[in-house]
Amino acid sequence: MAESVNESVASIESTLNSVERALERLRVGAYRQCQVCGRAIEEAELVANPVLANCPQHPELS
Ligand SMILES: [Zn+2]
Repeated sequence: MAESVNESVASIESTLNSVERALERLRVGAYRQCQVCGRAIEEAELVANPVLANCPQHPELS
């Protein structure tokens, strides 16, 4: 039981980190840019995943 709660907490913290990184990118004006190549991320992809930080060529880095 305790272990599944820990997993839930880890999942929430991971999501929170993703959101905080997305907010930071919004602040610096880099929200739509791939973190690897700087290319603009498609709007449809951001709609599907608002915290997406990378283009399809550069899968999400943790
Ligand atoms: Zn890229």
